[in-house]
Amino acid sequence: MKQVQEPARQIPVLAETDVLVVGGGPGGLAAALGAARQGARVMLVERYGCFGGVIAQSMVGTVAWYRTSEKTVDAGGIGTEFERRAKAMNASLQVNHYEVLDTEVFKHIADLMIQEAGIVPLLHTHIVDVLAEEGAITGVITESKSGRQAILARRVIDATGDGDVAARAGAPFRIDAKEELEGATVNFGCTGIDLREFLTYVLKNPNSISDWGGESGEKEATEFSTYLREPFDKAKEAGEIPADVRMESYWGSFTDAGEIPNMNAIHMAGIDSTDVWDLTRGEIEGRQRVMWAVEALKKYAPGFEKARLRTIGASIGCRESRKILGAYDLTEHDVLNQAKFDDSIGIFPEFLDGDGIAILPSTGRYFQVPYGITVPQEVENLLVAGRCVAGDKVSHAATRQMMCCTVTGQGAGVASAISLDTGVSPREVDISRVQDALRKQGVRLE
Ligand SMILES: Cc1cc2nc3c(=O)[nH]c(=O)nc-3n(C[C@H](O)[C@H](O)[C@H](O)COP(=O)(O)OP(=O)(O)OC[C@H]3O[C@@H](n4cnc5c(N)ncnc54)[C@H](O)[C@@H]3O)c2cc1C
Repeated sequence: MKQVQEPARQIPVLAETDVLVVGGGPGGLAAALGAARQGARVMLVERYGCFGGVIAQSMVGTVAWYRTSEKTVDAGGIGTEFERRAKAMNASLQVNHYEVLDTEVFKHIADLMIQEAGIVPLLHTHIVDVLAEEGAITGVITESKSGRQAILARRVIDATGDGDVAARAGAPFRIDAKEELEGATVNFGCTGIDLREFLTYVLKNPNSISDWGGESGEKEATEFSTYLREPFDKAKEAGEIPADVRMESYWGSFTDAGEIPNMNAIHMAGIDSTDVWDLTRGEIEGRQRVMWAVEALKKYAPGFEKARLRTIGASIGCRESRKILGAYDLTEHDVLNQAKFDDSIGIFPEFLDGDGIAILPSTGRYFQVPYGITVPQEVENLLVAGRCVAGDKVSHAATRQMMCCTVTGQGAGVASAISLDTGVSPREVDISRVQDALRKQGVRLE
């Protein structure tokens, strides 16, 4: 690639903080709240205009859709607080044992939670580089409408999903070839649906979790799923959607107003979310596919005859990119065998949802989430939360789930605050103090 020399320049310091959290998705929100409730001065920076990450940008309100049985166990903590807050504000739909969040109201709920905790919010600000001294991160460089600036911080938590901060800081990471990455999605919502007719059709043609294909068990074969494929197959047979385009939809909820706010039907392979050309191609190709999907639904899904497109997600949604190499890398064996760890920062049910694997935690089985997967190699004063934590491809099908992102986020947030209090690097933090604090914050560790 052709290169140019960027001239060095003095830039203003926008802010100084104890803990800086980069990225306001489920991982970043939990990290910021965990650190602030532990008494740290916290700043939360997000590149878009609202907090919530995939919840807000791709309208995904199903933060705990795996909770199909009363036997399922959760860590509790900030992830379940999202559900409780939304329910209390009449901004969720209860299904089985979980709440589907109203993702528009959730943007406001996130603002409230941040304000109540005394966190300094900063929106419309992209982190583009890091400042470091002797292998320790000391701040970040930002780009925004205010220009190029710096934020100085004693601890930084990378919750960008893509591990942007860790990569810029030189922390080792891995990323699969783009053909191997989980598919990217442009989500959409529809309105004007005759729900009585549509739900009658769905109940007459029930689908199960294992209809997605891939590795799953007997319990998944009997578990009802809002999986929908027939209308798209019919459109392909009629030559209205290209035969090689993967199209099969899940829909999480509906409203009394005849809306399905989120349809997850577009699955595009070969998109690397750290490559801006791929992101551009994915957004444009995704919108084309949304148009095909809506036409197919109107023609072949009973109840959709008078429906129309209501929303397209504000950003393409990506499921997998950089994974840091951590002090510990979580494995397939760990997530499928109820692993236990001395440095547990929470638990996560045996729930896996990835390309070619679907396992529901309806048995009560769960594994402990180790602190080590949030600690990058080689760079000090930096932790990672959310989907870019360390682990192999199968364990990623668990740790990328929003509830698990809140577990790693809250753990990293509390650990950052305690490492400051005790004057040690997060790598050296006294894990028993972190665990005591997490328990006090309502997190289940064992
Ligand atoms: C279409 C789709 C459907 C899904 N469905 C479900 C589901 O039903 N249930 C479930 O549990 N999980 C689901 N997932 C997975 C889950 O949503 C994600 O894995 C999860 O949101 C990751 O959380 P996170 O906080 O790590 O990252 P994100 O939610 O991606 O948040 C990262 C945030 O960081 C910001 N950011 C990124 N880079 C920068 C930067 N350089 N500077 C500043 N800000 C930055 C982003 O704008 C974003 O707000 C789905 C994912 C997709 C894409």
